[in-house]
This record gives sequence, C-alpha cells and structure tokens, in this order.
Amino acid sequence: MSMKGKVGLVMGLANKFSIAYGISESLRKRNAELIFTSQTEYFKNKITDLISNFNTHEVLLCDVSKDGDIDRLFDKILSDGKKLDFIVHSLAFSDKNELCGKYYDTSRNNFLNAMNISCYSFTEVCRNARKLMTHGGSIVTLTYYGAEKVVPNYNVMALAKAALETSVKYLAEDLGEFGIRVNAVSAGPIKTLASSGVSQFSKILEYERTRSPMRRNVTQNEIGEACAFLLNEMSSGITGEILHVDCGSNVIGVKFD
Ligand code: NAD
Repeated sequence: MSMKGKVGLVMGLANKFSIAYGISESLRKRNAELIFTSQTEYFKNKITDLISNFNTHEVLLCDVSKDGDIDRLFDKILSDGKKLDFIVHSLAFSDKNELCGKYYDTSRNNFLNAMNISCYSFTEVCRNARKLMTHGGSIVTLTYYGAEKVVPNYNVMALAKAALETSVKYLAEDLGEFGIRVNAVSAGPIKTLASSGVSQFSKILEYERTRSPMRRNVTQNEIGEACAFLLNEMSSGITGEILHVDCGSNVIGVKFD
C-alpha cells in the first residue's frame, strides 16, 4: 500500500545495520516522507549520508534520557508546521557490562537507565504524539522474545522489554479514542550495534537459526515490511498487539537436535 503523503518520525537509526534502517527502506519504497532523530551530533553526522537515500536531510537531535528532549522534539516538529501520521521507536540501551552473567548482578543505576531509555521514552513519545497526530496515526516500537522467556545474558533488557510490551497495551487503550494505534514488533535476533553488546549474541543467532520453524534468522527487510504493515492502513483494526517477526521461533517449546 502506498504511503505517499504520509509523514513519519523514525527514532533509532544508527547505521545501515540498524533495524530502523530496514524499516525506513520499507517506508521509502511506499513513498512515505521521513524525519529522523539522533541521540547526539556524533550519531547525526554518521547518518547524514545514509539518509540521503530517503530523500530527506532532516535529522533532529533527541537524547531520550534527557528531561525535556522528547517534548522539545515534538514542539519543534509542530512549530515547523508539520503533522505526523506514524512514529517508529527503535531504540534501547543498557550498559553492555551488564548484558552478561547473572541478572541479579544488575546495578540499580543501569536498571533505572535501561528502563528510562528503553521503556519510559516510549510512554513520553506516545503522550507527545497526540499533539501531532490530530487525525489519528500509528506508532510502532521494537521488542524481543527475551521479555517472555529467559534468554542468556539479555538480563535487564528483558525486564525493560517486558515493561515496554505492557506499555504498548496501556498506551493502545489511552490513545485508541483519538484514532492512534500502538503496536510492537517482536523481532528475531539481528546483528546490530545494540545487539552486539549482548554477550554470546552469535550463539543466540545460531540457536534461532536451528530452532525456528523456518530454520533461518529473520532479515532486516522482513522486520521493516512488518513495521510498514503496522504503520499503514492495512492494519487499521490492529492495536495493542505484539507481532512476532522471528521466523516462528517463539512457538517452539522443546526441540530435539
Ligand atoms: P541499533 O544499535 O542500530 O539502534 C539502537 C539505537 O538506540 C541507536 O540508534 C542509538 O542511538 C539509540 N539510542 C540509545 N540510547 C539512546 C538515547 N538515550 N536517546 C536516543 N537514542 C538512543 O540497534 P537495533 O538492534 O537496530 O535496535 C533497535 C531496537 O530494536 C531496540 O529497541 C532493540 O532492543 C530492538 N530489537 C533488536 C533486536 C536485535 O536482535 N537487533 C531484536 C529485537 C528487538
């Protein structure tokens, strides 16, 4: 379905391996107009060339851990006279030194920081969305199976994703009356900057490759296409949903070699 005339915000593009890149590709193919955000000037400079593929030069700074940054971001888009039809929230953070070993060794500081950046930011984004989605819209975030079942080394990020998944349901209820839908894609493992921080991530990739019904890992493009589906009218009856895009691996309980 064409998304010509639709304007969307993409948060979390770090490089061409980012899940946000795959999503942006799928949205570009459908002719959507994209506005990007970056955490810092450093990240912004890194994506300047990359986003020229998407017919935009617009990158706004937003460090979601900073008080007021998300409010300022939405106020800036509003003052530029723009409205939004969709938002992609594709960001998360934990100190990588705590994405290994025992979960109970998580520090209070990293627990709060991971929750703040990876979960609370989504609530703030959704609250602000109302200002710019006056005719309704669709918002998607990214989660992972580690929220449902134990995955080695995923640790505090699993708790942040579990809270994020529950946020999706509450936010869907809060925003439904304004015609705004809120969903998540639970993506199978993909090698990215963020996932490389999870200790033994290559073993997780290999495990999924052999365990999933489709006997392979999901691709960046497949995640992008599923997000594009949730962001356009083809999914107009879907909200509060956690859509697994993982080659089916979440349905497997026990599997013999
Ligand atoms: P990535 O490293 O490409 O993207 C992570 C992004 O988070 C980066 O752009 C980074 O700048 C941003 N970020 C971190 N802290 C921030 C802050 N304070 N303010 C603003 N932005 C901040 O990695 P990715 O794998 O594409 O991650 C995107 C999303 O997908 C994350 O939510 C991740 O948990 C989720 N996810 C990833 C996988 C996977 O295997 N890669 C699987 C399921 C879900």
